[in-house]
Amino acid sequence: MSDQHSFETLAIHAGQEPDPLTGAVVPPIYQVSTYKQDGVGGLRGGYEYSRSANPTRTALEENLAALEGGRRGLAFASGLAAEDTLLRTLLTPGDHVVIPDDAYGGTFRLFAKVISRWGVEWSVADTSDPAAVRAALRPRTKAVWVETPSNPLLGITDIAAVAEVAHQAGARLVVDNTFASPYLQQPLSLGADVVVHSTTKYMGGHSDVVGGALITADAALAEELVYHQNAMGAVAGPFDAWLTLRGIKTLAVRMDRHCANAERVAELLVAHPKVTEVYYPGLESHPLHEVAAKQMRAFGGMVSFRVAGGEEAAVEVCNRAELFTLGESLGGVESLIEHPGRMTHASTAGSPLEVPADLVRLSVGIESADDLLADLKQALG
Ligand SMILES: *Cc1c(COP(=O)(O)O)cnc(C)c1O
Repeated sequence: MSDQHSFETLAIHAGQEPDPLTGAVVPPIYQVSTYKQDGVGGLRGGYEYSRSANPTRTALEENLAALEGGRRGLAFASGLAAEDTLLRTLLTPGDHVVIPDDAYGGTFRLFAKVISRWGVEWSVADTSDPAAVRAALRPRTKAVWVETPSNPLLGITDIAAVAEVAHQAGARLVVDNTFASPYLQQPLSLGADVVVHSTTKYMGGHSDVVGGALITADAALAEELVYHQNAMGAVAGPFDAWLTLRGIKTLAVRMDRHCANAERVAELLVAHPKVTEVYYPGLESHPLHEVAAKQMRAFGGMVSFRVAGGEEAAVEVCNRAELFTLGESLGGVESLIEHPGRMTHASTAGSPLEVPADLVRLSVGIESADDLLADLKQALG
């Protein structure tokens, strides 16, 4: 599949040539651990053992590389497995990482509770301000970690500007592209060195699989990541890879609807008397709306807001919602609502990443926008 094709075409075809044996138009689920060798070391197509490589996973990995415009994609058992593999590839004891002041709670927990035990240092910066990132750099800063849009406050980081800051200091820029997906934003083309995904979210898109991915355009780094993926072993299984590929085929059409519905939800919330603040990069009032408009095709399906009346009022809105299902995760076709302070971001309590107690986060699905607005109105009371 030529890289000249447009995104929608690559999403359906990249890495997915019809099966050479049967012509099956969808890559089969190669539910297998090992492969017959034609004489010792005589591997067919390079397949030896499914931790090292599996044809269904290869199809997904080629697809991911094409969608992000990278040289190599790697698929993992979860987003956090991908992050862990990346960090232990990039860092040795004494190294330092700059992490954002707004990020997925599990990413923060991985740094603060796990990676730090191996002698890696981290500090927090407001990555929406390139000068703050520059000020946070240390002699042994090896990576700057960015999430844009961020979880749960929908902060925006100027990827090209922060790439320049990181590269001047000899550090790599890692972008968690989970909220945007490569349909809306391609960080490698803006200067990022590695893209991270929780494919559990928009890539899979149907709340039926947990997975993660890394994509890079750097050949030497790709080789190191492939080595660590095999050496650490947190790979995506064949069925999970197949489900993720199936989800990706419709990514472009799903994202268009997620974005359109989220815009209508944001409009409703801005005008609602019980809502004190709305976080959505598509709003002109968002402090980095211009940067979002420059680096994203559209503004995504995630919307957060604060409720008048504080924490109890916010929890009540979550409990009263009906069509918006109360639950963690995001990026599926069904709309979800949650209270980050008590749910997804509970691990950030007392840290610089602590989220407001009156915050509600929505993952706006692709149901009828009118039905979604009606549910929010009744939940807000
Ligand atoms: C969910 C999520 C992760 C972690 O991915 P898992 O698949 O749950 O391990 C990382 N980053 C962001 C932005 C997420 O939303």
